[in-house]
Amino acid sequence: MTKVHNFSAGPGILPQEVLKQASEACINFDNMNLSLLEISHRSKNYVKVMDEARQLVKDLFEVGDEYDVFYLGGGASLQFGMVPMNLLTETGYAAYVNTGVWASKAIKEAKIVGNTKVIASSEDKKFNYIPKGYEIPADADYFHITSNNTIYGTQMKQFPKSPVPMVCDMSSDLFSRRVNAKDFALIYAGAQKNMGPAGSTMVMIRKDMLGKSGRKMLSMLDYQVHVKGESMYNTPPVFPVYVSMLTLRWLKEHGGVAWIEKINQQKADLLYAEIDRNTCFTGTVVQEDRSNMNVCFLPTKPEYEAEFDKMAKANNIDGIKGHRDVGGYRASIYNAMPIESVQVLVDVMKEFESKFA
Ligand SMILES: *Cc1c(COP(=O)(O)O)cnc(C)c1O
Repeated sequence: MTKVHNFSAGPGILPQEVLKQASEACINFDNMNLSLLEISHRSKNYVKVMDEARQLVKDLFEVGDEYDVFYLGGGASLQFGMVPMNLLTETGYAAYVNTGVWASKAIKEAKIVGNTKVIASSEDKKFNYIPKGYEIPADADYFHITSNNTIYGTQMKQFPKSPVPMVCDMSSDLFSRRVNAKDFALIYAGAQKNMGPAGSTMVMIRKDMLGKSGRKMLSMLDYQVHVKGESMYNTPPVFPVYVSMLTLRWLKEHGGVAWIEKINQQKADLLYAEIDRNTCFTGTVVQEDRSNMNVCFLPTKPEYEAEFDKMAKANNIDGIKGHRDVGGYRASIYNAMPIESVQVLVDVMKEFESKFA
C-alpha cells in the first residue's frame, strides 16, 4: 500500500497501530471469537472498554473523581444544545466568545434554549485572531469557549481566568497540549478530530455542575441520566468508543499529553516556518494565535493553486484543501500525524517554489 500523508481536518488521521487493533476487534474481540460489533454492550468484555475509555480521559487530564466522563452520540453539535439545557437557568444567561463557525453554531443553539450574550468576537476580521482583554461577567451561569478553531486555524494559547464555570469545546485540539483541566467545569469533544472515528462525543463534567438548570428535559439530553447510567443509559456508540479508548491508550503509553505536545509543537514550527519563508504561500492567521492543529495558508498567486494541487497529489499528500470559507490550504496535523509527513509537505512546498516562483 502506498503511504498517503493524511492532512484531513476531520474525520482525521488515527495511529496506524490503533487502526490495526480496531480492525482485528471487528473479527475477534478480546479472544471471544466474536466481533466487537455483535456483542452486548453490557458484556463484561465491553464494560471494561467503556470503563477504561472513561478513566483514560481523567488520567490524561489529571483529574480525580470530582469529574465524570461519558460518551454520547450526536456529535459535538448536540453538545451545543445540551450544554445550555443542563447549565443555563431560566432566569440567568450564558456568556460566549465567538471565534468562528463552531462557536457561532454553539451560540445559535444556546439562544434557542435561553438568554445568551456574546461577550467577545473576532468576526470583524473573518475570525483570523483570538479576542483578548474582554471581561467575563461574574453573574453569568457559565462561560463558553472553543479552544481551537478547526476552520479558521486559530487556537487559544492561554485560557482566560473565569469567575464563573468555564465550558470548552475542545473537539479539534483535545489532548494535543497540556491544559489545566481543573479550570474547566465541562469539556466536550467530538471524537473524529483527535481521538477516534466519528460517532461519539466525549463529555467531562465536574459533578457539582449536575442538575443546575432546573429545566425539564428529555432523558437522553440530561447529563445526570448519563452519569447515573455510567455512559450506558442506552446503547453507547460501541465501536467509536472502543477506537477512542485505543487512541487514548496509545497516547498514554507513549508518554501522554506532555509527550505529544512537544511533537505537535515541532510539527507546527516546521510548517509555519516554511509558510513564512516560502514566497509562494502566506499564512491566514495572526502569528500569536496560530493553531498547532489546523494550519491554514493561501497561495500568493491564485494561479499557483492548480499546480500545487497537482504536485501535492503526485507526492501522496491528501486532505489539504482549505475550507470553503477560507480557501487555499488547510493542513491538519493532529496527534497521530507523524512529523515525517509534515516534512514531506514542507519539501513539496520548497520544490514548488524552486519551479514556479
Ligand atoms: C468538527 C467540530 C465540531 C462539530 O462536530 P460534530 O461532531 O460534527 O457535531 C464542533 N466543534 C469543533 C471545534 C469542531 O472542530
